[in-house]
Amino acid sequence: MEKIRQNIERVKEKVENAKIRAGRNDDVTIIAVTKTVPPQRINEAIEAGILDIGENRVQELLSKYENISKNAKIHLIGHLQRNKFKYILGKTALIHSVDSERLLEHIDNLSKNNGIVTDILLQLNISGEESKYGLTTAQLDYIINKIERYENIRVRGLMTIAPFYEDKEKTRPVFQQMYEIFCNLKEKNVKNVKMEYLSMGMSNDFEVAVEEGSNMIRIGTAIFGSR
Ligand SMILES: *Cc1c(COP(=O)(O)O)cnc(C)c1O
Repeated sequence: MEKIRQNIERVKEKVENAKIRAGRNDDVTIIAVTKTVPPQRINEAIEAGILDIGENRVQELLSKYENISKNAKIHLIGHLQRNKFKYILGKTALIHSVDSERLLEHIDNLSKNNGIVTDILLQLNISGEESKYGLTTAQLDYIINKIERYENIRVRGLMTIAPFYEDKEKTRPVFQQMYEIFCNLKEKNVKNVKMEYLSMGMSNDFEVAVEEGSNMIRIGTAIFGSR
């Protein structure tokens, strides 16, 4: 318990310092990433002040769902298969990993049938790493041009997973490019799009991400220890 609390405090302090270096005073949401973490420890993090938790697999999220404190918002941050969305319909505050028009369309349809609007982020893979999911910038433009027709989804921002580098500085250009795309879209004022969240930065690279404009970081290891 004390360890988790201390880890959260340390992450918060590093976020504050990164914001100072970047001359920012807006909020950065810390999502505690809980894959492989049992509900009891998740609830310890929530008691220690975490308001947002992130799971990356539908099955794991469902298996813990009933035992996680309802005080936290739930984010799905990992790849989502279309046929799995029905299981989490209405359960998430935000789905970070929408990476195709087919998935978007499916989420929209099911949300419509159930009379809800589902909040999502569009996941980008701008470094072009083959091992990662995500839209190219061309695919993003294509989807944004058609987004008006999807009335039961609301795009709240963008997400990316930067490549892993020992040298964290190497991630900076990825975060800079994301921030630029985010700002351009925000200016455009597209229907069904409300660019509020830029979800980027993990345990290894969140300080650089915050320096470059991230306002939502996804932190597993630095809070719960290594998996
Ligand atoms: C696991 C995971 C994280 C957190 O990773 P850490 O390096 O443990 O902080 C963030 N985002 C996604 C999509 C993940 O799957």
